[in-house]
Amino acid sequence: MNGEPAAIGIFGGTFDPVHYGHLRAAVEAREKLELEDMRLLPAGTPPHRSGTFASAPHRLAMLKLALSVDCGLRVDNREVRREGSSFMVDTLAEFRQEYPHSPLLLMIGQDAANALDRWHDWRALFGLAHLVIMRRPESVSIYSDELDAQIQSRLAGQVADLKTAIAGRVLPLEVTQLAISSTDIRRRIHQEKSPQFLLPDAVISYIRQKGLYTGE
Ligand code: ATP
Ligand code: MG
Repeated sequence: MNGEPAAIGIFGGTFDPVHYGHLRAAVEAREKLELEDMRLLPAGTPPHRSGTFASAPHRLAMLKLALSVDCGLRVDNREVRREGSSFMVDTLAEFRQEYPHSPLLLMIGQDAANALDRWHDWRALFGLAHLVIMRRPESVSIYSDELDAQIQSRLAGQVADLKTAIAGRVLPLEVTQLAISSTDIRRRIHQEKSPQFLLPDAVISYIRQKGLYTGE
């Protein structure tokens, strides 16, 4: 330890349900970015979709099961605890208050990055955290002009650049490409097909036990 405040990785999502695409990306990002603290944050009431399929308590429970093995990742349930919409800008402001001197690294997949300029108060995100954009199968980068300009002007050359400032830089990150999505998993379950090996067994057991995703 060098006495510097430790950087924190913040990986938000609906995790409806969590799958190996999320988990593998999080593990690799944690290693590549040399983070001791990498958190997965299930959204409470996501502002960008009409609703989730499983309730917040179910999505939180599945995430806890997935991370109950020794993997260096942890669940942060602050968005589920908070009332109302889960705006990432509010979440990051809360982290910033709690950790005034820590680099905060907001982790998002390429598809989410493409839509970043539709997030509530999106320009403020850069003042609160760095942005790490993880490549995802079937998603190329397509940015609006303004978002592209923001990203280009903030590009970090190397991982170390995310440790010398507490916010404001952007790093594209290669992770193993797994073409797994929650949408596809939900569809399989609905069609009574097996989702095995796309997500942890413990999560599949929970889904079966609670009868989730059968009735869309
Ligand atoms: P849905 O199909 O319901 O949208 P999803 O699989 O996209 O689910 P989300 O909870 O929407 O999962 O994603 C949360 C975050 O994880 C987003 O930033 C998304 O880009 C990223 N992500 C999801 N799946 C992958 C994957 N296979 N590889 C890399 N990143 C992923
Ligand atoms: Mg998604």
